[in-house]
Amino acid sequence: MIIAIDGPAGSGKSTISKLVAKDLDLIYLDTGAMYRLVTLKALKMGILDENLENLDKINELLDNLEIDIREDGFYLDGVDVSEEIRKPIVSENVSKIAAIKEVRIKMVDLQRAFSKAKNVILDGRDIGTVVFPNADLKVFLVADARERANRRYKELTEKGENVSLEEIYQNILMRDKIDSTREEAPLKKAEDAVEVDTTSKNIDEVKEKILNLYKNL
Ligand code: C5P
Repeated sequence: MIIAIDGPAGSGKSTISKLVAKDLDLIYLDTGAMYRLVTLKALKMGILDENLENLDKINELLDNLEIDIREDGFYLDGVDVSEEIRKPIVSENVSKIAAIKEVRIKMVDLQRAFSKAKNVILDGRDIGTVVFPNADLKVFLVADARERANRRYKELTEKGENVSLEEIYQNILMRDKIDSTREEAPLKKAEDAVEVDTTSKNIDEVKEKILNLYKNL
């Protein structure tokens, strides 16, 4: 069983995927976190804007990348960086890193290997279009950008992060733009995905909607 949940930043993908995973006893894979891990590694290696085109650097990064997705968190080179990958500096750079073909090839391979012979729910941007075009169920979550920024703001401030709502809103707009216009696996709804607008729905309503889609498979 493979369930694909795609959609733009802050549309509720990870919250909903975790709940559905619990109800249906599926393993959840947050593919956005994987691109965030690569971005953190790039930042640590000092690979910034000026040398993102430098494929030697990118290949060096990918060859030395040690990421581990465990029940208790996301690990980079043996260190739990679950908090660090949500920081604004990572959000500001992740879409540029995720647009690089070599990065995507490696992440998609890892996502397919992780899911092999398992019942999984994955969230991301290209799960229903590229990673698992034959997924059993595909959902495309959308929501108004202001509402998505409000949600992200609430989530981060509750964790004690000092962030500005306007900056989060601008970051969401920027990521939507880069993610949906890139050449490699752009963010888009798969033809056979069910679109769910979460703007004025609460979490339970969205979860129930997806559970119903699953029951009717
Ligand atoms: O899901 P999240 O917002 O944490 O994803 C961070 C970024 O990773 C996205 O803005 C996008 O650039 C990239 N991403 C991607 N493909 C995926 C998942 C995430 O390109 N399947």
